[in-house]
Amino acid sequence: MTPGRDTEGWQVTPLESFPPMEKWDDWVEYDAAAWPRKVEKHYMLVPTTCFNCEAACGLVAYVDKETRAIRKLEGNPFHPGSRGKNCAKGPATLNQIQDPGRILYPMKRVGPRGSGKFARASWDEALDVFAAAIRKAIVEGRKTEVMYHVGRPGHDGYMDRVLQSWGVDGHNSHTNVCSAAARLGYALWSGADRPSPDHENAKFMLLLSSHLETGHYFNPHAQRIIEGKMRGAKLAVVDVRLSNTASMADFWLAPWPGTEAFLLLAMAHVILEEKLYDRAFLETWGNWRETLEALAPGTPTSVDAFLEALRKHYARFTPDAAEAECGVAKETVVAVAREIGAAGSAFATHVWRNAASGNLGGWQVARALQFLCVLVGSVGAKGGTNLNTQDKFVPPPFLKPPAQGVWNELLYPREWPLSHHELSYLLPHFLLEGRGKLAAYFTRVYNPVWTNPDGMIWEQVLRDESKIELHAALTPTWSETAQYADWVLPMGLGAERHDLMSQETHAEKWIGFRQPVVRVMRERLGEKVEWTRDANPGEVWEEDEFWIALSWRIDPDGSLGIRKYYESPYRKSQRITVDEYYRWIFENTVPGLPEEAKKKGLSALEYMRRYGAFLVEKETWEGHAKKLSAADLQAASVDEASKTVTKAGKPIGIVADGAPRIGFTTPSRRLEFFSKTMVEWGWPEFALPEYIESHVHRKHLDRAKGEYALVPTFRLPTLIHTRSGNAKWLYELSNTNPVWIHPEDAERIGVETTDLVRISTRIGHFVNKAWVTEGVRPGIVACSHHLGRWRLFDDNGTDKWASCKVAREETAPGKFRFRRLEDIGPFESSDPDSKRVWWSDGGVHQNLTFPVQPDPVSGMHCWHQRVRVERAGADDRYGDVEVDTAKSMAIYREWVALARPAPGPGGLRRPLHFARAVRPAPEAYRTEPEQILNDFGRAVPGRNR
Ligand code: SF4
Repeated sequence: MTPGRDTEGWQVTPLESFPPMEKWDDWVEYDAAAWPRKVEKHYMLVPTTCFNCEAACGLVAYVDKETRAIRKLEGNPFHPGSRGKNCAKGPATLNQIQDPGRILYPMKRVGPRGSGKFARASWDEALDVFAAAIRKAIVEGRKTEVMYHVGRPGHDGYMDRVLQSWGVDGHNSHTNVCSAAARLGYALWSGADRPSPDHENAKFMLLLSSHLETGHYFNPHAQRIIEGKMRGAKLAVVDVRLSNTASMADFWLAPWPGTEAFLLLAMAHVILEEKLYDRAFLETWGNWRETLEALAPGTPTSVDAFLEALRKHYARFTPDAAEAECGVAKETVVAVAREIGAAGSAFATHVWRNAASGNLGGWQVARALQFLCVLVGSVGAKGGTNLNTQDKFVPPPFLKPPAQGVWNELLYPREWPLSHHELSYLLPHFLLEGRGKLAAYFTRVYNPVWTNPDGMIWEQVLRDESKIELHAALTPTWSETAQYADWVLPMGLGAERHDLMSQETHAEKWIGFRQPVVRVMRERLGEKVEWTRDANPGEVWEEDEFWIALSWRIDPDGSLGIRKYYESPYRKSQRITVDEYYRWIFENTVPGLPEEAKKKGLSALEYMRRYGAFLVEKETWEGHAKKLSAADLQAASVDEASKTVTKAGKPIGIVADGAPRIGFTTPSRRLEFFSKTMVEWGWPEFALPEYIESHVHRKHLDRAKGEYALVPTFRLPTLIHTRSGNAKWLYELSNTNPVWIHPEDAERIGVETTDLVRISTRIGHFVNKAWVTEGVRPGIVACSHHLGRWRLFDDNGTDKWASCKVAREETAPGKFRFRRLEDIGPFESSDPDSKRVWWSDGGVHQNLTFPVQPDPVSGMHCWHQRVRVERAGADDRYGDVEVDTAKSMAIYREWVALARPAPGPGGLRRPLHFARAVRPAPEAYRTEPEQILNDFGRAVPGRNR
């Protein structure tokens, strides 16, 4: 194809246009507000990275050179992931920056916790208070009492370094309400815990969930899915809802929720029966020898025998059985399986939350999906499904602290040794059970009272000063959680802070630089800015500098060994600046960046400040086939039968195509059909990919009695979980979340669209409007979790664009009722638009009514709910929420009892080959001798150290 022309030779005009880079220091546009006069406005264009979801797309801020205010944010054409494009949430960063209700100064609580009484305070005071509490905990050896709990990280590795410099085991996350189940399913296959589909080059794409509009890497994936389709690829979508993505697909499969693993195993069955697999790939890269030995012990070793054993093992997953179990036509199952087989190595697929996060055993959904990739040889292939480890690049910082020698059981309790992240949403349950306390607790862009299940248990613990002694909410916005903090510390939005990010959006490695654009502009104009908060609105700061300043105060004289990590690598004994922190990384650890910068007459840091992103590596396929280096091979040996390369008794690679290669980061260095890890850690029945019946399986439901499965997990493309509360454009677009219900079910219940329904879970209920639609399976109701923000007070709690004022009442001990007092409406503020608010709804919150349901293997909260749906009663009001926390604690214990606790082999808390957030030293993995217990709580003879 000639550049600029399509395949038929027609001139192609790109829809997008961007100001040329050479004009970024002085870009001139006419002021639209001055029309018809032609009034020039001069802007400096500064790139940054969007912070409104995890995709980390590039943005370019137009900073008015006269007012020094950001005028607008558009796409950054130099960003390899987003390529100049954004979703609605990117440009809406401007609303968040200009929100008249935003927190501009540090706020200190001046009434009881939760009273809503705060007063302005100084950063100095906040730093002193937290430095003293943390120093005391460290000095007294209470290294599990300092905790940083993050909702949206927005950076790669910065906090790991901070926490390890303090020597604490204190990193908590939101991952077990998000992606932990999928991570386990993926990690068991290859050691890498997430997929990176190469949609652009695929021949067939299979998506679980609605990726085009709301997927994990929404905008970067959406554009590449469309490109794949334009090149002729077909698309199949598995979703109980007819999402926008499903409506554009070649195949829409809507299985019963929780049967997705069965559906995928039925596709594997077809591929095995019809020999659509890639035999050579399986022979080279699969752990077929161990799998054969497990499936058919004593059988003479051959690939044919393995394939036959595998075929027999999955014989029960016939298309007929799938139709009966999943409710998807057998012809569709066969057709999709054949498409996958025909695509072969160009089969790209992805699941992240969706079914994996909804169901008991959801981790098997990801495992079954990856099974398909392995069978057709698409793992790591062009157009296939790469490993995240091939497409993500995290450059190391200078002077890395050693791993902490302590293990925090509030983060990784021994009940879930295989969980793929912290059991974050159970923190209040653990604290209520007396498993520990916290001396200093930071929530960062995290709103567990609203986002997590069982929010009233969170509220109870956040109010309790004996369980959490000191709590700071590091946040750009007020939230349902921030109102219970002792300190509310305002942190910057995407254009007001530094972060370095890389995401596995496609088959390339890139880094994106988030920066405080007004500060950068002022520095470019020759001004000196000491702290980012001096250039941001009010005293809004950024975490990078906050942690440097705090660490410096924890250890002012260096006697704790902390200070040295915050001293400049360029100026001896001086406190490091953020410029120096990133300068060192860009100069020393990003391959090709200094050279590329030099070509343009820039330093590496200047390059990143100018372009905002850098492409580190192209065409990242086949990482597993990289050759082992000569150093790797020193003192290594090869087992000729298995072709495994071993060093010091440990496999380090395999011989493939006549050369020793890295392989995968599993114990066998191969893709593992059979997982010895699962056997050794107490789950032998799941040694291979299997189907686990969900807790919302339809056999548990009696539709005649109004029982349904509630799917509460789907996203709206225009909202973020909670931070979009101060983005007026986004709430103007999306401000209601009715319950999707099929016409058959609506008739049975006796409701029409807009009628109120009461949805009862095991611990309470909520009242919402019905939306009667054929776009959802009969027997299922679905409700987006993005709406239903509330506030208890007029002046803090949650932004008025998004929240309704509610009355919170404790109707009996442990029983709570929320009733709406006011709708959303026009309000007075410095923004004239606030008087023009026309929407009144705001939607209904549902997560408070969900008990915690930790999967016994992955630890993932199983979001789907068994519910009773009925027409609302005379006393019900739109937006009502009622919860009984005594019931929720009982259900928590029910689910905990399903787990099979550590220790595993060698008295370990967790397999050493599994990834762990902010990984401790190996010795911390060992349980103490007196604590090595079996599944029944008794000491295990001979397993003590
Ligand atoms: S997908 Fe949208 S919200 Fe997410 S980073 Fe990109 S522009 Fe921002």
